[in-house]
Amino acid sequence: MSKMHIDVVSAVPDSIKDYMNYSIIRIAKEKHLVEIDLHNLHNYADNKYRRIDDYPFGGGAGMIIRCEPIFKCIEQLKENRDYDEIIYLAPDGELLNQNIVNEISIKENLIILAGHYKGIDQRVRDKLITREISIGDYVLTGGELPALVLIDALVRLIPGVIGDAESALFDSFQDNLLEPPIYTRPAEFQGMKVPDVLLGGNHKEIENWKFEKALEKTKKFRPDMLKDWS
Ligand code: SAM
Repeated sequence: MSKMHIDVVSAVPDSIKDYMNYSIIRIAKEKHLVEIDLHNLHNYADNKYRRIDDYPFGGGAGMIIRCEPIFKCIEQLKENRDYDEIIYLAPDGELLNQNIVNEISIKENLIILAGHYKGIDQRVRDKLITREISIGDYVLTGGELPALVLIDALVRLIPGVIGDAESALFDSFQDNLLEPPIYTRPAEFQGMKVPDVLLGGNHKEIENWKFEKALEKTKKFRPDMLKDWS
């Protein structure tokens, strides 16, 4: 089975360390299906104060992460491994969606760079970065949460990570439809009943019902997703 290796480069890697010890990412690490190393940019600073940021040329508010620590860190990593993608999380990157996640999930070696402050020096983007990804049209304080979002979405697709492999394939977006409503026991709760069709055991009827509900929900909340159907 193939194993994914991810190097996360960040100014505050400790902020995401704990999350990696829970749920799917922990399971994937325990099964040796993914290996994730965190790298603190401050350890690559070339000054005794371990500063990694500086003022923007041309003025303006905010500080920018300098080239040197990022180049030093990524160049060192590249000495030991060939990377399929070096990803920078950026609000002005391509908008993340399930197709992009599917595409990246089959890669083996990734660097994920999280920015901070006002962002990173453009020369890093020009020279080192192979792909820029945004997790949505809003601005967060740092790229650490976007890195976790991307890693979680990737790791759950690695074969063998999720027990019931099919469940990840039938999630929302995988078939250009949102997921239909889902229910578990009890069959009736506070007067609210699970639709009869789901209790009837007729697989064909159940599949038809799920498809109809998925279509209904997609038409209501994400009609844009249906344009690929025509
Ligand atoms: N000045 C930047 C701009 O206007 O595009 C925003 C910088 S933001 C405060 C700091 C860092 O957070 C970015 O370098 C990026 O790594 C990360 N970030 C913020 N919002 C993000 C988003 N929607 N998707 C991906 N990364 C994001």
